[in-house]
Amino acid sequence: MTANTTTTPGTASAVSPLTAADRCDRCSAAARVRAVLPSGFELLFCKHHFNEHRTMLETQGAVLLEDAPVAPVAAV
Ligand SMILES: [Zn+2]
Repeated sequence: MTANTTTTPGTASAVSPLTAADRCDRCSAAARVRAVLPSGFELLFCKHHFNEHRTMLETQGAVLLEDAPVAPVAAV
């Protein structure tokens, strides 16, 4: 009897991209960067506040996900 175990590699959890509805946690500007702290806590920053807090975030080991320029999606 063969145990056919299919190991699913941990699917790299793709964080949902930032949308126009996402706002900086410090001001009301559109969020450009998502910072995920080791605890799993998420913070959103506009470019300005991201630059201001970047060092602190990196020190804390946060994963910084910069929003790529949004390319128009060709819907089929
Ligand atoms: Zn801001």
